[in-house]
Amino acid sequence: MKKIAIIGSTGSIGRQAIEVCRRYPERFEIVAMAANTGGALFEEQLRQNKPRFAALRAEREVCVPQGTRFACGESAFEEACAFAEADVVLIAVTGFAGLKAALSALSAGKDVALANKESLVVGGHLVMPLAERKGLRILPVDSEHSAIWQCLHFDRKAPFRKILLTASGGALRDVPIEKLGEVTAKDALAHPNWKMGPKITIDCATMLNKGFEVMEAMHLYGAALSEIEVLVHRESIVHSMVEFADGAVLAQMAAPSMELPIQLALTYPERLDCGLPPLDLIRAGALHFERVDEKRYPCFRLALLCAKKGGTYPCILNAAGEVAVSAFLNGQIKYTQIADIIEDVLAAEIGGGAESYGALEETDRRAREKARLRIG
Ligand code: MG
Repeated sequence: MKKIAIIGSTGSIGRQAIEVCRRYPERFEIVAMAANTGGALFEEQLRQNKPRFAALRAEREVCVPQGTRFACGESAFEEACAFAEADVVLIAVTGFAGLKAALSALSAGKDVALANKESLVVGGHLVMPLAERKGLRILPVDSEHSAIWQCLHFDRKAPFRKILLTASGGALRDVPIEKLGEVTAKDALAHPNWKMGPKITIDCATMLNKGFEVMEAMHLYGAALSEIEVLVHRESIVHSMVEFADGAVLAQMAAPSMELPIQLALTYPERLDCGLPPLDLIRAGALHFERVDEKRYPCFRLALLCAKKGGTYPCILNAAGEVAVSAFLNGQIKYTQIADIIEDVLAAEIGGGAESYGALEETDRRAREKARLRIG
């Protein structure tokens, strides 16, 4: 029986992870659940799964079933990330908050199933060496990184020549570039292939998400920036590919579903049914691959620049991106201003550092402040 702690249980990945655990009750037990703000869904999840421990980051009481211990606040949230009885901690919160969660879990000696890419983007240089030092596993949950991991036979350190990271191009891939200033949050949220949370869906439209995933792959697979190529693949059937020294290229294909990578992170090297329909390649028809048009996706260009520069740049990129995307979702700025704001904040004197979690927290705070000023 594998004991799982789910951090971010009410989000898209958290909900699917619960489904995965429910499919195999003889294999998985959810021992801890944590969420940011709670609500009716969280209480329902607690009733159905009866974890030993439940935590809410917000200071708020919730109704818990008998046998579940409950605590709220920042330290309770951290306790869930480091929950003593868990074998694996699934980190499924979005944004900068994932970094602290990952560091807490690893510090407590837990293997981490990582769905939060920002923790690697911002603090991969802290997360990866900590896992290495402690002999702990980082299990990729992001679909592309799971695909790469599968192509590498579940060996993150296996040699390769190149990683070919695929991208759908997002909801706005066919909108004429000159019309992008007029698109609404609703347009940008209508992703053609994947159902995900709002922040990541906007990041798919701008391809900031793919820029993040380049950095994520650099950390997970020890890849240089020059060893990663991004291809727009409209069908989202090939979830990524790896090219090897002899010229062979392995691709991982499946219908788009996050349940496969979530489940595989928990069961690998074993593969079990996860309810996916068989892949019908005849119905899928032709598969297409294109280069990224950097004019259409300025956020992608900025992210690659940050990947090259390193240091505090990825942290500033992420902070400015979080603020700008939330302003766009609230109708405060135009879609095209997301990239403008990120670019301005990257060009500003932010200061701060990247050498520790505390230094990154300070950099993140300053960059957010700068981005908010820019929005007005
Ligand atoms: Mg992904």
